[in-house]
Amino acid sequence: MRYDTIVIGLGGMGSATAYQLAARGQRVLGLEQFSAAHTLGSSHGHTRIIRQAYLEGAAYVPLVQHAYDRWRALERDSGEQLLIVTGGLMLGPEGSDTISGSRTSAELYDIPHELLDAPEIRRRFPQFRPDDSTVGLYEPSAGAVRPEAGILAHLRLAEQHGATLQFDAPVRAWQADAAGAGVRVTTDRGVYEADTLAITAGAWAPALLRDLGVPLIVERQVQLWFEPTESIAAFGPGRFPIFIWENDADTHFYGIPALDPALGVKAAIHHGGAMVQADMIDRTVQPDDVARVRALVRQRIPALDGRVIDGAVCMYTNTPDEHFVIAAHPAYRQVVVAGGFSGHGYKFAPVVGEILADLAIDGATQHPIALFAPDRFGAAID
Ligand SMILES: Cc1cc2nc3c(=O)[nH]c(=O)nc-3n(C[C@H](O)[C@H](O)[C@H](O)COP(=O)(O)OP(=O)(O)OC[C@H]3O[C@@H](n4cnc5c(N)ncnc54)[C@H](O)[C@@H]3O)c2cc1C
Repeated sequence: MRYDTIVIGLGGMGSATAYQLAARGQRVLGLEQFSAAHTLGSSHGHTRIIRQAYLEGAAYVPLVQHAYDRWRALERDSGEQLLIVTGGLMLGPEGSDTISGSRTSAELYDIPHELLDAPEIRRRFPQFRPDDSTVGLYEPSAGAVRPEAGILAHLRLAEQHGATLQFDAPVRAWQADAAGAGVRVTTDRGVYEADTLAITAGAWAPALLRDLGVPLIVERQVQLWFEPTESIAAFGPGRFPIFIWENDADTHFYGIPALDPALGVKAAIHHGGAMVQADMIDRTVQPDDVARVRALVRQRIPALDGRVIDGAVCMYTNTPDEHFVIAAHPAYRQVVVAGGFSGHGYKFAPVVGEILADLAIDGATQHPIALFAPDRFGAAID
């Protein structure tokens, strides 16, 4: 049978894409090399931050605001709790990119927020120990989404809308007709044909998208869960916000409250990891991974300096400017891609699914995606 669209990779973005395409009546084949909501890619670890006062650029705000609506719609359709609003605190020196970036987005889009000086941060959130030069931007609407539950919800709904999903089905090769007339995708089980192809391969995108013209770098990232030395209640969603704390020019210290007390409080460092390849990564959390995060915990959130309950290695797929790639493939209009999420993509997953479905079905989208064009790097395409 010939499909309308084949989706390669059913992780955060591919599961949402398969769902959107199937819900719009397409015959969809989804191919995933591992199991559903596995822990070998970029979308595991129970929680992901979602926030509107977007420090990476105001261009993301309309997309993330739409994402909040889509997460709530997915909750209704799936019966799962997926988005938990906890409030969010961005921390850094006055004038830092973290503070000025989130403030610009908040002001441009009238996102409710408060600016806090160090004494006010200590008063409102005594868990934090900012020095006197640290200021904060507090956003009440920030919180966390649940990636594994989100993926499973999207996959289940995709199947309910008739999508065929194959797991343990690595794609070995794909070909697209240069004139736009369809695609062929090869797995160990067979060769499949479709009119269009969506590639949402996460950290494996460099292998599948060599001719995209975007230099993608995969980065090893470790997420840890700490047990507080005092009551976990002080680190629950009502009392402890998600936080992003500028560390130096290139890295941020961040954390997520204990949504489930047994799991502890997530704390990690955004960026600063080793450059790796998806199939050759060290998946074991090393003592040095813990030491780097613990040093920041001890200095900035001393009551969290307890046992490390769990840890997980994850991957970022970075573009040079850390903005996403979401577009039709420059060489094949019937191939659409979403990748290079540079460590901040999951919150957008339902919207990315919508955008890829728009591009696959209509060849265009109403969503603002100019920032994500692959040709911004100016590379020549074969
Ligand atoms: C530690 C960590 C913390 C993060 N924190 C946040 C956060 O707080 N907020 C936020 O918004 N984002 C965050 N992110 C980023 C976000 O999680 C990612 O941007 C997003 O999950 C990427 O989704 P994806 O679909 O591109 O990748 P994945 O979910 O990894 O999906 C790609 C899928 O493609 C499959 N695949 C690849 N190649 C093939 C093939 N040849 N054949 C078949 N299947 C294939 C893979 O097995 C995988 O399932 C974080 C990421 C990490 C690692």
